[in-house]
Amino acid sequence: MKAEIIAVGTELLLGQIVNTNAQYLSRELAALGIDVYYQTVVGDNLERIQDALRLSSSRADIVLLSGGLGPTQDDLTKDALAAFLGRTLHIDRMAMDAIERFFRERGTPMTENNRRQALAIEGGTPLPNETGLAVGNAVSSDDVHYIVLPGPPKELMPMFEQQAKPWLMQHVLTHEQPIYSKMLKFAGIGESSLDERLQDLITAQTDPTIALYAKEGEVTVRISTKAPSESEAMDKLDGLEAKIRERASAFMYASEDVPIEKVIVDLMADRGWTLSAAESCTGGLVMESLTSVPGSATMFRGGVVCYTNEMKEKLVHVPHGLLEGEGAPGAVSREVAEVLAEHVRMITDSDFGLSVTGVAGPGYAERKPVGLVYIGLAERGKETEVHELHLQGNRETIRIRATKALLYRLWR
Ligand code: ATP
Ligand code: MG
Repeated sequence: MKAEIIAVGTELLLGQIVNTNAQYLSRELAALGIDVYYQTVVGDNLERIQDALRLSSSRADIVLLSGGLGPTQDDLTKDALAAFLGRTLHIDRMAMDAIERFFRERGTPMTENNRRQALAIEGGTPLPNETGLAVGNAVSSDDVHYIVLPGPPKELMPMFEQQAKPWLMQHVLTHEQPIYSKMLKFAGIGESSLDERLQDLITAQTDPTIALYAKEGEVTVRISTKAPSESEAMDKLDGLEAKIRERASAFMYASEDVPIEKVIVDLMADRGWTLSAAESCTGGLVMESLTSVPGSATMFRGGVVCYTNEMKEKLVHVPHGLLEGEGAPGAVSREVAEVLAEHVRMITDSDFGLSVTGVAGPGYAERKPVGLVYIGLAERGKETEVHELHLQGNRETIRIRATKALLYRLWR
């Protein structure tokens, strides 16, 4: 099965918005085992949308369209598809009822052009919109299947998930075997290093397939296969997972789609361990990510954001001589990371104390380069560990990567 995505919207061509719908749809289609060969962006123009449809339908089995289902004159996607297929548009009764109800409940008058949002293509299946007004459409013609989805992502995503996907499964993917996937999660390693370690597997992949995604300091590896039954699929996936583990087990913290903070919170809560943190350049991100996990109250005791040298001294009792003065290592140093982790652990009487101090940028601090970060890990009765990191990226990514790197070290 070959698919194409046509995103409609002059805003996209002007660079005013980013085409996240195409990204979302491409991923979803890949997970269904459908190959996406082209993505097109076209403005709100009747002729050019039809041109795009002509080209896409000559190459693909499935054409997904996003955007241009609204009430205004520049929302032309359904008109263009109907004209291209030589079909008429009619008002879908259910969608019209929903629109009328919406305006009645609001007490605002409905304008005539709102009716356009209820238009459905002759011979197609209207796709109800749970989070907005414009009805979607699924229609097949000459062995090509067209799916029309609204532009706003909060409408497009649920409509794809709840309406379009089941429609595709039922009408288009009937002879295909179902796809099973497994998510393997990695931290403490970049996407390219992991890619390198798995290179032989990635090059040789046919079934199961391997795909890597990096996001916010973690890497997700999705392995997928088609099989007649779940147990056969799991045999194949487990086999590949074992080979991936052989190459990168030190970095793989879960074989399901969970963030590392969740794994840590569950593990520590389970063992009855407690934790605290003293953060400088991450400004509380470590504590924020841990406390965002339900159940963290049993393992997380507290901590401080000690951003300035003064606060490092006052709140965590870092000796002045380490921070300032002739020959002092300075706030961004192995020594200060160590003291921060040890002191916060002792002050809070926790089993573990974490610390982060570094240069998130932009610009140098203490004549130290952007991306230089020290993370500290103090554990009751053990020697404190400090790691020096050289992180790439802008301020935001450095802060996230430092947080994830620290959580990864703790997990290890
Ligand atoms: P509306 O009823 O809001 O007019 P619509 O289906 O007509 O919806 P558009 O007018 O094309 O869709 O876009 C509406 C909004 O949806 C855009 O302003 C933008 O915020 C978002 N949007 C549209 N297309 C995309 C896209 N490809 N990726 C991400 N967001 C998009
Ligand atoms: Mg619109």
